[in-house]
Amino acid sequence: MASILSSNEVTATYGTDRITALLNVDDPMRHLSDDLKRAVGPALEGTALSAEDARRLVGSAPDELDSLCKAASILRDRGKGHDVSFSPKVFIPLTMLCRDFCAYCTFRQDPAQAPHLYMTSEEVLEVARAGEKMGCTEALFTLGERPEQRYPEAKEWLRRHGYKTTLDYLLYVSRLVLDETSLLPHGNPGTMSRREMEGLRDVNVSMGVMLENISQRLCEQGGPHELAPSKFPRARLKTIETAGKLKIPFTTGILIGIGETLEERVDSLLAIRERHQRYGHIQEVIIQNFRAKPNTAMSHHAEPGADDLLWTVAVARLILGPEANVQVPPNLSAREYPMFLLAGINDWGGISPITIDYVNPEAPWPQIATLDKRTRELGFALRPRLPVYPDYLAGKDGYLPNGLQGRVKSMTDEDGYVKGGIGRYVGYTS
Ligand code: SF4
Repeated sequence: MASILSSNEVTATYGTDRITALLNVDDPMRHLSDDLKRAVGPALEGTALSAEDARRLVGSAPDELDSLCKAASILRDRGKGHDVSFSPKVFIPLTMLCRDFCAYCTFRQDPAQAPHLYMTSEEVLEVARAGEKMGCTEALFTLGERPEQRYPEAKEWLRRHGYKTTLDYLLYVSRLVLDETSLLPHGNPGTMSRREMEGLRDVNVSMGVMLENISQRLCEQGGPHELAPSKFPRARLKTIETAGKLKIPFTTGILIGIGETLEERVDSLLAIRERHQRYGHIQEVIIQNFRAKPNTAMSHHAEPGADDLLWTVAVARLILGPEANVQVPPNLSAREYPMFLLAGINDWGGISPITIDYVNPEAPWPQIATLDKRTRELGFALRPRLPVYPDYLAGKDGYLPNGLQGRVKSMTDEDGYVKGGIGRYVGYTS
């Protein structure tokens, strides 16, 4: 499949010839240095990159970027074809209180700022039902990290409503959404213990925690995670590994541009790959770019440019291999997001027709019809998926609790995507 746009149309649509340049790369190996050929060649021949070869990619020159993207695209085509997925969702910020302070975050609130400490169960259901009417299939619960450990107000709210912890309340509302609507919960509440995940897995088809970065250096004084113990790599990795032991389809990823080096990015991707090789549970890897927000400690910190993100996406695909699901959130690169299709991604993540991205409220998601058009223009087919990837529905035993299997089956087509396909959302059948 090739782009259905001419070069002139590509340039007119995106105001840049970057996509044309990416589309015009023929043989990726031709333009790479010998050092990079040594790294990329085996990947294209089907061998997983060694850690040493992965680190070689850090030395790539700017004029090798298009070839790296092409090599990554070839790998993606091999494992995923030209199907690109997204998850139609509602975003439910169950609480924006948080015990931590990340230097770039505008999501967190103190009790004094918060219009309410927690969403009530009625409010949760209202959002979920509105999403149901729009054909959404995912209820994404994103929330601050264990606010009851910092704020007596949070502890008191939970006590009054009959819960000990925020995660106990998450368990309750997840079950409520499952019982009262057709949506499937995906919990993203930060670090979790084994006991907490064992409970949540019965009512969440998948869960997630961003690794962000493997470097402890970012948690040192003056770093973005100095005041965020839950972002210590050891704590994040423990949650990721526990999910693996419990066979929970799991979402993770890296956040780029927060002061890490390229080597630390590569090491983070290698750490994710290593956990997946050990447990087989990493259902998707998000490559998220830092956005500088006003009134944060990092408001003047430079944001990563498009080429930086392209490089990271391509390197992620080369490290993670053809079968991985690699995602870039399109709302964080509003103008140029389609170009990441040409660097090896195969997923756009959760897209909501009715709720904002509370973590990046300044960045609206594209309309599903627009996302579909942009995806098709570059020769790909957009397909709605559940919050659990098709890869975990058939042939992988033990990843879905018995209680959810029938439900998930009734919602999916023979390929594991949402029944009815993109036509449910854009008014035509693919
Ligand atoms: S990014 Fe998450 S953990 Fe960090 S302060 Fe914000 S809500 Fe808390």
